[in-house]
Amino acid sequence: MSVKRISVGALATNCYIYRDDATGRCAVIDPGDMDSTLRSAIGEYGCDQFDYILLTHCHFDHVRGVSEVRRLTGARIAIFRDDAPGLLDTEVNLSRMFLYRGEIYPEADVTFIDGAKFSVGETEFTVLHTPGHTVGSCCYVTEDIIFSGDTLFCMSAGRTDFPGGSLTDLRRSLQKLMKLEGDYQVYPGHDEPTTLSYERKHNLYC
Ligand SMILES: [Zn+2]
Repeated sequence: MSVKRISVGALATNCYIYRDDATGRCAVIDPGDMDSTLRSAIGEYGCDQFDYILLTHCHFDHVRGVSEVRRLTGARIAIFRDDAPGLLDTEVNLSRMFLYRGEIYPEADVTFIDGAKFSVGETEFTVLHTPGHTVGSCCYVTEDIIFSGDTLFCMSAGRTDFPGGSLTDLRRSLQKLMKLEGDYQVYPGHDEPTTLSYERKHNLYC
């Protein structure tokens, strides 16, 4: 498998392209905005087909590029069930607060529950519900990778002062991640990638 990280938008959100090398099937994780770098990456990363646009949560800085990525790839938009309504709610998706004008985004084609499984090519992913940053934040987990959205950052964690946020829930969600067996490469929604073993030792929230 291969992962390409592209920083997009004013808040430098990490958008990722995940490729299952055996089949050339891909997913785009958190297209927070569309720009020429992301457009080229989508065209040039050797993807035969895009199975999903995976959203870790509904905030505008993770989803603003979703319509265009869907237009380019034909992939289905997927999000955790409890954050699906936020795509259509300008307060919950924070567009009104940050952009000074409300934006709504395309409705999800697929909604997940905790423990849901799906595949990108031959790679199976599991959905872990990790509320705290938003009510329906989730992480996408494969054998040795976690796409952690704004739940877990390198030595930090997401804010809990937005609508639906909860520090109690966030701490519980971080514990859930820390209890996963073995080590994982962690690809967060902002800042540098990290590993689960490093965060077990150094993360202030865990
Ligand atoms: Zn967020």
